[in-house]
Amino acid sequence: MMSSAIASVFRGTIIHSLELETVQILHNAALGVSHLGSIVFVRPDVDTDDKFNLIQQEYGFESNKVVNLGNKFLIPGFIDTHAHAPQYHNAGTGTDLPLLKWLEKYTFPVESKFRDLSFAKNVYTKVVDRMLKNGTTTCCYYATIHLDASLLLADIVTERGQRGFIGKVCMDRHSPDHYVETTEDSIRNTRQFVEQLQARGNPLVQPIVTPRFAPSCTDSLMHDLGKLARERNTLVQSHISENLDEVQWVKSLYPNLNSYAEVYKHFDLLTNKTIMAHCVHLSDQELDLFKQQEASIAHCPQSNFTLGSGALDVRKVLSKNIKIGLGSDVSGGYSASLLSAVRDTTKCSNAVLFGDRTHKTLGYEAAFYLATVGGSKVVCMEDKLGNFVEGKYFDAQVIDPYVQGGPFDVFADDTPKDIFQKFIFLGDDRNVNSVYVNGKKVI
Ligand SMILES: [Zn+2]
Repeated sequence: MMSSAIASVFRGTIIHSLELETVQILHNAALGVSHLGSIVFVRPDVDTDDKFNLIQQEYGFESNKVVNLGNKFLIPGFIDTHAHAPQYHNAGTGTDLPLLKWLEKYTFPVESKFRDLSFAKNVYTKVVDRMLKNGTTTCCYYATIHLDASLLLADIVTERGQRGFIGKVCMDRHSPDHYVETTEDSIRNTRQFVEQLQARGNPLVQPIVTPRFAPSCTDSLMHDLGKLARERNTLVQSHISENLDEVQWVKSLYPNLNSYAEVYKHFDLLTNKTIMAHCVHLSDQELDLFKQQEASIAHCPQSNFTLGSGALDVRKVLSKNIKIGLGSDVSGGYSASLLSAVRDTTKCSNAVLFGDRTHKTLGYEAAFYLATVGGSKVVCMEDKLGNFVEGKYFDAQVIDPYVQGGPFDVFADDTPKDIFQKFIFLGDDRNVNSVYVNGKKVI
């Protein structure tokens, strides 16, 4: 192999998931990344310099390419499968109302301000930086209804080097006068958004077709968006069954369709490229429909607790073999860090247990899997992202559990797994030493 093939080699402890309930810890590992950003080799137990030298000879890389992790460790970047970039402005506020009132009082007013590009630039720069600093290497973003501001978000994600799916939000009914589109504007601007972003040819930043949710989109708009997503081969994202009032509302809007999930299917918006946020109150039949359509779920437990929406039974979703990952749902969820979603996934599972003592709860290992491998399946990139398997892209975070002034303490008798668990429950961006996307250092 030519020496130029290897751009960097990481030496030290690597932690990732290969299956749901187990975290794999590779000690004294060596991991090589190509100039194209993919993982060329992963070798465990390289515990002597002699063993390392053999790998160096095999791949012919220079010693200055080697990053010694020391007492830091490497984990995959987080994949946030559901976040509203403009709502980051409100993160940590407006936590006192249920969904439909919350949208009216806090969310629509702030989103409508994104017609002002300087306002948009300030918030979008801050949210992307915050996400990256917290180790989110891939994010599914909702922008707003504004074409220019949505393209600006794509520019900022591109410039910062994050991997992202960017959606111009579509809503042409049941919305306030100051924040609504005509059907024609919505479909025309969405088409333009998708075509412009695809024409840029940046594989890291792609458009995603984004009907806000069924109540805010007319039949005609939903129909055209389903067609557009097929034609341009994009992912689709929307919301479903977050809150009981919302479910009732959809029932009254579509008396002739069997269920909320059927509504999206009816408009060809429930496909194997669809990411539906929440899914808290889906019936068994609707879950079966998700499975049949190979649609995926963005589980947003912090948002579901904060807005009082409910507790999704993730174990049931998993037992039906439906794709599921985690979402921050900024700002229904107040934290842009996916670590919060990981913690709240374990709490949400405990909440399900309170009502059903037979529920087999999800531990932090499973929640970590969902934040990484689970997310990779949701964005249809399970062969490219989610863990450190040869051939996948190197999207990673270097975690420093010993950082000065950090959020937790490590004791001499803590095992590597203890330290990892402390990071999961107590860690924050102070522990995130550096972040890589597609092999490139972005933090
Ligand atoms: Zn949302």
